[in-house]
Amino acid sequence: MRSVVGDTIPARLSLVLICLVLACLVLIWAAVLATTAAFCAQDQVASGTTAPTQQLDPTIRALLHTIETLSDYHAPEALPRVYRLPQLQLEAKVCDEPCNVSAAYVPREGIYLAESLDPANDLSDRAALLHELVHYLQQGHPKFAHMTPCARERAKEEEAYAIQNAYLAEIGSQERAVFYDSEFDCAR
Ligand SMILES: [Zn+2]
Repeated sequence: MRSVVGDTIPARLSLVLICLVLACLVLIWAAVLATTAAFCAQDQVASGTTAPTQQLDPTIRALLHTIETLSDYHAPEALPRVYRLPQLQLEAKVCDEPCNVSAAYVPREGIYLAESLDPANDLSDRAALLHELVHYLQQGHPKFAHMTPCARERAKEEEAYAIQNAYLAEIGSQERAVFYDSEFDCAR
């Protein structure tokens, strides 16, 4: 009996030790993975570029087609990149100070939309996305080439609002987007 007890306890102990070591290794591995994921997430937040969403692609295609019917723009096959951001992150991205912007087009980057917007289901939000898609189509268009930077930005905004409101009228909405032109006083 002595020899049986003597053999069994060290064997069990070593088994327990092996299990403990394995459990530690798994925990360390999980911790490394979690840390890497956290750093990646921080990177994305820092650069303001989470992965673009493709969930809105059907809505975007439909809106680009609508813009073609409401203007003389011709939409390319390639869709703009669309990023969803929390409101505060969006404001930090496009405004120098807190602002209530909920959608913005940034040339060569794409369209940034506040996460609270629901363009697939909400008509007002859809009209806001259409406005930014107009800016996407305006980018590099020769009709703005001869203008001064201020006059160009003003003309682009006026046109985007006009097409947005034509869209709202077409879908039977009473809502109209208002263009506040005070920040585009090009005579200053
Ligand atoms: Zn605009």
